[in-house]
Amino acid sequence: MTEHVEQLEFQAETHQLLELMIHSVYSNKDTFLRELISNASDALDKLKMASYQDKDLEVDTSDLHVELEVDAEKRILTVRDNGIGMSKAEVVDLIGTLAKSGTAQLRKQLLEAKPDQAAEELIGQFGIGFYSTFMVADKVALTTRKAGESEATRWESAAGSSTYTIETLDSAPQGTAVSLHLKTVDEDDHLFDYTKEWKLREIVKKYSDFIAWPIRMQVERTISEGEGEEKEEKTVLEDQILNSQKALWTRPRSEVSDEEYKEFYKHVSHAWDDPLEIIPFKAEGTFEYQALLFIPSTAPFDLFMREHQRGVQLYVRRVFIMDNCEELMPEYLRFVKGVVDAQDLSLNVSREILQQDRQIQAIRKRLVRKVLSTVKDLQGAEDKTSYQTFWKEFGRVLKEGLLNDFDNRETLLQVSSFASTHSDDQPTTLTEYVERMAEGQDKIFYMTGESRHQIEASPHMEAFKAKGLEVLVLTDPVDEMWVGSVTEFDGKQFQSIAKGEVDLESEDEKKESEALREQQDKDFGDVLTWLQKALDDSVKQVRLSSRLTTSPACLVGDVFDFTPQLERMYRASGQALPETKRILELNPTHPLVTGLRDAYFQNKDAVDSGNAPELGETAELLYGTAVLAEGGELKDPSHFAHILTERLTRTV
Ligand code: ADP
Ligand code: MG
Repeated sequence: MTEHVEQLEFQAETHQLLELMIHSVYSNKDTFLRELISNASDALDKLKMASYQDKDLEVDTSDLHVELEVDAEKRILTVRDNGIGMSKAEVVDLIGTLAKSGTAQLRKQLLEAKPDQAAEELIGQFGIGFYSTFMVADKVALTTRKAGESEATRWESAAGSSTYTIETLDSAPQGTAVSLHLKTVDEDDHLFDYTKEWKLREIVKKYSDFIAWPIRMQVERTISEGEGEEKEEKTVLEDQILNSQKALWTRPRSEVSDEEYKEFYKHVSHAWDDPLEIIPFKAEGTFEYQALLFIPSTAPFDLFMREHQRGVQLYVRRVFIMDNCEELMPEYLRFVKGVVDAQDLSLNVSREILQQDRQIQAIRKRLVRKVLSTVKDLQGAEDKTSYQTFWKEFGRVLKEGLLNDFDNRETLLQVSSFASTHSDDQPTTLTEYVERMAEGQDKIFYMTGESRHQIEASPHMEAFKAKGLEVLVLTDPVDEMWVGSVTEFDGKQFQSIAKGEVDLESEDEKKESEALREQQDKDFGDVLTWLQKALDDSVKQVRLSSRLTTSPACLVGDVFDFTPQLERMYRASGQALPETKRILELNPTHPLVTGLRDAYFQNKDAVDSGNAPELGETAELLYGTAVLAEGGELKDPSHFAHILTERLTRTV
């Protein structure tokens, strides 16, 4: 090896993934070419864009293209582009390592993966396009020179190796060439012989026809020369373009097959599976543009990671302008993929201009409505499978829209689904909830928490269960947020069952219980005052409850208080918050509570003058148990354990 060649180790996960790829039984090996052409096309887009933005960049953009080259004897297939190219650091970073943010996730999935079926799923999820070459090649070499740089880089690795080499070259044509040393194929397996012209033509036509750049190949053609006796057959080499280059979004829907749309989706979104929904549309009038959007059928692993990018590309009159155009899609629709091609923008638009542009704002508004109405259609369809898939994959993201998209709030509420006590496994829409509301019920009840189990077992739920009232079970972190700002649906207010006072009685019941309540208040009077003093550090009020049937006590918040979960979320994100004290509600019929009341009155003087520590401890135990019952954390668990142990020792 010369001193220019460095040998580097693959990341462990990357190596494992390559192993999967090599031994994959993935039936559709042809797709490796789609991936290489897709990368080449991206590289050409990027070069074109760079040359607009940087007038000093010395590059020739007069003949941007992709080229396939076959050496049948040596069984080498080369895919070449004269696009943006990569620097040495980029090669190591982009080709030698997988997306950093996904590594932990990938590691986990590799551990759980079943070898034979894992490859396809993993490929799809982690978008490892370039590595798919190892499905068909024993050795892969990549030579690249970045636009504007003079040195070039060569990367090479053999199938199954845990290392790759990197070499610096003095020169190379600008752009990237990927050479595959193809595996040998059996005679009867010629369907997978990628040195064959017909095979390459077929793949390009099937997967890459819409690519905007020409995909060229030198082919042999037989021509006749001369006349009559002189006539002679001759074989000549000729450059042919294999793809039609027709931008899919400019063609009427009736002329494009679903297959074509699906392949285009795989190109723009770097996905390997089919989209859930295809949304082509065209706007004419003041602002003219065409859009082709897709709702994916699986959520990418990094949907909730900070680096996740929005998936809509901006074109201006067929010219690619930018990936990840944030101005075209709100963050809560970041999973939507596709392209928007605007007629009247300048090719030089920058992000800054886009942010101000009225046309872009109008387009965005329209795109959002279009996506939401598509979801609504899925929801309204006879067969709900697509809607269910959509909601499972993207519901959590969509609900983020409830926080800030005021214009579409009503629609968002309509298309959302929530777990509820009505059914263990079928989520409900709000419309369905409202239809089922009990007579006299005028609120939509919900409870937020960390898990369904925790919510259902919480004391707050008792009276609702007893009365058969449906409660929405909200366990996504985003639920904590939106319930704070969305007040009603269809004229019905949202009410947390863990906040404020609950009033579940009908007018008749109210009259009946009024007398009882007055009596209870009288009976307890001083006890509540004492308890409040005894628990002053932990609670802001002690009162009698109408929501408990079996538990002695529970904690509730005031209507505008933070819930404990929300507090924890804020703290976890590093924000300092004053502690919110909550309200302790007591079940006036529970023996522990009535017992405590009676004991208080029997020793009133001693208790009030601080000479009955026993009762103070009972109060602490009562409070601590209420914290534990809702799945909360005690401030001083060892103290709680200590007084409980003492108490148990005496009664064992
Ligand atoms: P993806 O295309 O989904 O990002 P790939 O594995 O196909 O994943 O490619 C990884 C990265 O390597 C690309 O994002 C790109 O930055 C770089 N790359 C791959 N092929 C080329 C190419 N022909 N020209 C320039 N960069 C390339
Ligand atoms: Mg790719």
